[in-house]
Amino acid sequence: MRTNYDCIVLGLGGLGSAAAYWLSRRAGADVLGLEQFELGHIRGESQDHSRIIRLSYHTPGYVRLAKRAYESWDMVAADGKEPCVLKTGGLDFAPRNSAIPLDSYMESMRAEQVPFEHLDAAEIRKRWPQFRVSDEIHGLFQADSGIAMAARANAVHQRLAREHGATLRDRAGVTAVHQTGNEYEVVAGGVHYRCRKLVIAAGPWSNRALANFGMELPLEITQEQVSYFQSPWLADFAPARFPVWIWMDDPCFYGFPVFGEQATKIAQDAGGKPVTAETRSFEPNPENFDGVTRWAERYLPTALGPLLYTKTCLYTLTPDRDFVIDRIPGHDNAVIAIGAGHAFKFASVIGRILSELVLDGATPSDLSPFTLSRPILRELNPTRNYMV
Ligand SMILES: Cc1cc2nc3c(=O)[nH]c(=O)nc-3n(C[C@H](O)[C@H](O)[C@H](O)COP(=O)(O)OP(=O)(O)OC[C@H]3O[C@@H](n4cnc5c(N)ncnc54)[C@H](O)[C@@H]3O)c2cc1C
Repeated sequence: MRTNYDCIVLGLGGLGSAAAYWLSRRAGADVLGLEQFELGHIRGESQDHSRIIRLSYHTPGYVRLAKRAYESWDMVAADGKEPCVLKTGGLDFAPRNSAIPLDSYMESMRAEQVPFEHLDAAEIRKRWPQFRVSDEIHGLFQADSGIAMAARANAVHQRLAREHGATLRDRAGVTAVHQTGNEYEVVAGGVHYRCRKLVIAAGPWSNRALANFGMELPLEITQEQVSYFQSPWLADFAPARFPVWIWMDDPCFYGFPVFGEQATKIAQDAGGKPVTAETRSFEPNPENFDGVTRWAERYLPTALGPLLYTKTCLYTLTPDRDFVIDRIPGHDNAVIAIGAGHAFKFASVIGRILSELVLDGATPSDLSPFTLSRPILRELNPTRNYMV
């Protein structure tokens, strides 16, 4: 069995599968991906049918990254002859004095020449009578928002990585990483692999992977959940008639048109309790579920119906909710990405950036907000703000 590779990717969730793909486009058979569980498992962050993708973001930097995300997904779709994104349009809406002000979203899109519409409540009701909004609500509509097809996109990245020559090993948990000269020895499933370049995309297990480099970050892992409802009015929630949406207040809720199941999907963002990847359960939290249904009874009642299922999932949250995409200090050839609970839309472009960092030593994307050296990541008990 081959044990010597140019690049090893630790973790094959959303970001790692993307990294394996983008590396394999250039390094082919010199790429090895290692995943501790089976591919497509449900213990991490990237399972389920759908994730929201949008250009609508609170800083111009994220809007620029989102533009490159769409471009990257398009390149994957062209390579794989299979789309990973479905555009439905997206509505971000809230009361005028909301906890997450829409102003920074609108300013950032204006700064980056992204077209959007600022809608009052009457216009929202006219376009989508499914939303029962009173007059103090306003919203912004961006036509390119939609669904990143999470499970499918991961499978496409993995298939294409293999087609480009990469080896992907599942049930191969990495238990140790040692630097030996200008190489890394990576121990997984009792096998000692060697590589010159290491990409870490370990999601909720990031601190365990970083411990190999003597590092620990103030990450909070939370157990989140999404619920699928068998609305009796499913036709009103077809992707051609109904957008992805985010309620930009605290608590923050979001949802999807019918996709992947014959059901609507509604969830609360960052509403979960802190856990670890080992202590988490797969049991839905009833209070979180009640919060979702109470909100929907008021603002989106016809989306509700008999519960199909509620599914749990983990967020790996940095205190400022910005990503980590950086080199490990002192290691020019080891990079890490952490998704901060909103990275799926960027999965492909983050994988592409990681490949650029290790293969070219540089990336055209601005990573300054995502450094490991930012002060808040050095605090033991940082103030956490997830409502951005
Ligand atoms: C309910 C929910 C809703 C979300 N909604 C959105 C959304 O609408 N839009 C959006 O953009 N994002 C969204 N996100 C966030 C997004 O899904 C995540 O940021 C993204 O999936 C993170 O991917 P990842 O690859 O970092 O983590 P993971 O998918 O968890 O992958 C990490 C992988 O590394 C493996 N691993 C870890 N350690 C080792 C080891 N030592 N050896 C081998 N393998 C290892 C793990 O088993 C795992 O497979 C949502 C997340 C959740 C949970």
